Amino acid sequence: MFFVNPDSRVNRNIPNMALAFASTHYGCQVVDHNTVPDPKNRFLDIDDGDMVISVRSLNYSEAGRIAKAYKEKYPDARIRSLSGFLDIQCCYPFLDFEDKLVYDRLFSDEFPFPDYELFDSIELFRKKWAEGKWNFPLMTSLGCPFLCTYCASRNRQYYMRSVDHCIEELKIAQKKWKFGSFEVLDDCFNVKKDRVIEFCEKVKPMKLNWFCTNGLRADLFDEEIARSLKESGCAFLSFGIESIDPETLRLVKKGETVDQIERAVNIAVEHFEHVNGYFIIGLPGSSFEKDLRALEWAKKHRINSHFSFYVPPEKGDRHSDSYLPDDAIFYGEQARPYSDSYPQEEQMKLYKMTEEMRYREPPRENIIKRGLRKLRNMISG
Ligand code: SF4
Repeated sequence: MFFVNPDSRVNRNIPNMALAFASTHYGCQVVDHNTVPDPKNRFLDIDDGDMVISVRSLNYSEAGRIAKAYKEKYPDARIRSLSGFLDIQCCYPFLDFEDKLVYDRLFSDEFPFPDYELFDSIELFRKKWAEGKWNFPLMTSLGCPFLCTYCASRNRQYYMRSVDHCIEELKIAQKKWKFGSFEVLDDCFNVKKDRVIEFCEKVKPMKLNWFCTNGLRADLFDEEIARSLKESGCAFLSFGIESIDPETLRLVKKGETVDQIERAVNIAVEHFEHVNGYFIIGLPGSSFEKDLRALEWAKKHRINSHFSFYVPPEKGDRHSDSYLPDDAIFYGEQARPYSDSYPQEEQMKLYKMTEEMRYREPPRENIIKRGLRKLRNMISG
């Protein structure tokens, strides 16, 4: 059996975590076309007869092409999708073919640490991690108990690994890959304040640069967390803000007030040079003017902002007729609008206006920090 990660056209620098865990469990290699797209038919070189594809909403048609091509070359091959505990990553759901491999162990300390060497893209990851250009990925928790209607991660069972288990993974991985920075990929890292603080205390001695790339909740953020994150080496954080219109926030069940968002962002800006806000264009109840106000608000608060398009639930529901599995890309170069809240040309216009404010590169280590890290790596062998 072997796994294939189809080209999804976004997040090339982030491993497919469902495949990372599953391939480690089964000890099978991963042909990773998302991080190394070419040669685009190299999955055909593997004469195995049992191919499992990680099918996602944004690579559905590419996954179909891969399945068909493999079947043509190896008519007796079994072709399945990977289905399991990790059903969403970076806001995009994983999907199933009729025949599927179910890997459904509970996300916990029982999991072995992901063995990225099983990915055929590992040399690129190795290089980028060691150069400090890409962040090593860490999942400390999975799922989210909140109910935000626009979010694929909503209302899912919340699973946590212990902080000690996460730190152990980081230590082993750092020794092996010599990465300069890592990022936490949790759906919502700050669900539990004590856990965030414990993590910060325990990661601090490692003297690493790290990033809360996915959106934190503003209502669960305070001065103590900000200090703790900062002191532990966190160099960048993001909030899932979505809108600064109270009615829109209410309609999407965000469970936060504009005041709470403003307070959290002000605290973060005081402590961090790089703060990012995620916003959504075209949410129910929004308008061009309201979304424009969000953009101006972000500028006023001196934060980077990442605007993506709203995908109405029926279009994001795989069981719906209007489901858009193969082209619903709501952020990145090829993103386009799907919401009818206001004219889509206006949504597109706003998206383009926000391009400049998008956060592109993680803040890099300064020269002194980089030198110290290299020295540490040399000493630790
Ligand atoms: S808190 Fe964040 S991860 Fe949780 S449902 Fe809301 S947007 Fe999604």
